[in-house]
Amino acid sequence: MRPELLAGPDEPTAAEPVANAPPAEQASPVSPPVEAPAPRRQPPRIVVPHAPAERAAAARPVVAAPPPARGNGGPNVRATLAPLADADSTRAREIAALDWQSLQAAVTGCTACGLCKTRTQAVFGVGNPQAELLVVGEAPGAEEDRQGEPFVGAAGKLLDNMLAAIGEKRGERVFIANVLKCRPPGNRNPQPDEVLQCAPYLARQIELIRPRLIFAVGRFAIQTLLQTDAPVGALRGKLHQVNDIPVVVGYHPAYLLRNLPDKARAWRDLLLVQQRLRELAATER
Ligand code: SF4
Repeated sequence: MRPELLAGPDEPTAAEPVANAPPAEQASPVSPPVEAPAPRRQPPRIVVPHAPAERAAAARPVVAAPPPARGNGGPNVRATLAPLADADSTRAREIAALDWQSLQAAVTGCTACGLCKTRTQAVFGVGNPQAELLVVGEAPGAEEDRQGEPFVGAAGKLLDNMLAAIGEKRGERVFIANVLKCRPPGNRNPQPDEVLQCAPYLARQIELIRPRLIFAVGRFAIQTLLQTDAPVGALRGKLHQVNDIPVVVGYHPAYLLRNLPDKARAWRDLLLVQQRLRELAATER
């Protein structure tokens, strides 16, 4: 596969907001609900402070060994989801106990932050709830808000091309979600209180999906997941961890649409995703 395969068909020339996709003209229905995940392998339980002792005892890593250093030689980040899960919050503890359908329903009807007043609908995510690969972006854009699905429009097409370049496809072994489930007005940056309220949903999605690998795209998603202020350039090209789940970071497709020279770097990120997925699959045989 060649880096030019990452090129999207509708690349804009004007600067595009951080959101997943530029707006389109037509509304379409909410994406269909996805099946509840069936048990597949021992989950990498999210160990949160103050959780019941038995829950912590049940923690079992998917990847026992620490990830190897790669890329630009900087430190690899090893984070936990505890700060995102906000375990001290009663609401967060309730979210952490939800099954897949209940979680979807909770997101759909959520009014925990002010974004519920301006959204068309909450965007839970799309794909296989038993996905091997979880793609995490920032927040819905205008078109995602209309369609109820993350990464649609030009940026979504580019993401699909990126996945196809490594033999993956939306809805097959992939689940796609955002840190925020509702669109910030005008595609502004998410606010800390919005992240605080919404991140427990992503933490629970990660716990239920139990992906082999997370591919975080865009500065906001990367820094939120890894809980770091480090720039994307310093984090690319190496393996990080959230709890015991490996994390590869990369550019957001919307960014790539307006920064063509970075597509070659994006290709290297995808190769790292592909390589690590193959390594993880081999270790589980
Ligand atoms: S952004 Fe998240 S916390 Fe805020 S209303 Fe939407 S689902 Fe709820």
